[in-house]
Amino acid sequence: MLISEIYLSRQGEGVLTGTPSVFVRTSGCNLRCGFCDTPFASWEPVGEQMSVSQIVEQVHLTADSHTDDTPASHVVLTGGEPMLQHEIELLCKEIKSAGFHVTMETAGTIFKQLKCDLMSISPKLSNSDPEAGRAGEWLAKHQSKRHQPQVVRQLIESYEYQLKFVVDTPEDLDEIIEYLTQINPPDRAKVLLMPQGIEIESLAETEQWLIPLCDEHQFTYCPRKHIQWYGNKRGT
Ligand code: SF4
Repeated sequence: MLISEIYLSRQGEGVLTGTPSVFVRTSGCNLRCGFCDTPFASWEPVGEQMSVSQIVEQVHLTADSHTDDTPASHVVLTGGEPMLQHEIELLCKEIKSAGFHVTMETAGTIFKQLKCDLMSISPKLSNSDPEAGRAGEWLAKHQSKRHQPQVVRQLIESYEYQLKFVVDTPEDLDEIIEYLTQINPPDRAKVLLMPQGIEIESLAETEQWLIPLCDEHQFTYCPRKHIQWYGNKRGT
């Protein structure tokens, strides 16, 4: 499968924030979000073709490079959209068999039965739609594919999960609340709201109004700590 990068970092979002993890970024996505911060795995997918055994070998090497005496024990499969990959089931099986905790980062448009400890689902709202000029033919495809509540419902019924929404404006809360009615409202503590942005200043500004809204609606605020720690850089 096409892999854009494999690297060691700390999980910057969600319930495992701070956990040293090997990130395996598959290249290729079925969406084209306007705010995508990994265009090299979506808009212009690049990378190296690697077999499952080569990926697993690289995961071991990367985990062993953890600066503490112990190797990293967590692997995050991310993208792009890793659920698009034909051999993703085999890759999950092999990584799990090697003893790693596996997190799958997905936009929740594709269901597959696979070995995974945490399904980290980030359904894309209307604020993800790309500008018409930039997107060309992708605008219609993006809009028709991004909203798959039946798939998200199946994922949360089948896996330990977290549900992450990217929030741009306070008005997005109405769309999230409506969305949750379509997927049979899950445990609200597992609904995480993240500020949209790739700069520390704009994230801090959004935080000012988003935290009170999370408190009001019993959602969990989800900072994007990797931006604070490393900036918006590849390999972090
Ligand atoms: S789903 Fe994720 S990787 Fe794909 S275009 Fe949207 S933000 Fe980028």
